[in-house]
Amino acid sequence: MNSLDSLYQQVILDHAKARHGDGDLPGADASHFERNPTCGDEITVSVRLDPGTDRVVGLAWQGDGCSISMASASVLTDMAVGRTVPELLTLTEAFRTMMRSRGVGEPDEDVLEDLVAFHGVSKFVMRVKCGMLAWVAAEAAVREASAAR
Ligand code: ZN
Repeated sequence: MNSLDSLYQQVILDHAKARHGDGDLPGADASHFERNPTCGDEITVSVRLDPGTDRVVGLAWQGDGCSISMASASVLTDMAVGRTVPELLTLTEAFRTMMRSRGVGEPDEDVLEDLVAFHGVSKFVMRVKCGMLAWVAAEAAVREASAAR
């Protein structure tokens, strides 16, 4: 497998095409915009929380960018909905740790699920921000939505 293959794993290519969560979120509690100037990726992530449990009941995003950033936003949508805010923040931290690993070590698939596909991306320092962009936006959006209660 050459480095380009490991950079663009099939999971990433599939999600970049499918783009789960790409669209509007009616009744969103908070939205957050993030931009990655080195690559030109832009994204706004919107979230809706259940008022009783602080669980993410809706997440959608609008944006444009490279396959890595779009795939990451799609995986985010699949993984965020149904989690509580603290659970999502913990998962974001685990993803961030992997993305800063520079390809060293074995990611925990039980925790990271489809995000392990981005392990190869962590070797490419310039692309780490592409992978994190949607998650950073979601992190800010859920914090804002949670604080607004
Ligand atoms: Zn990018």
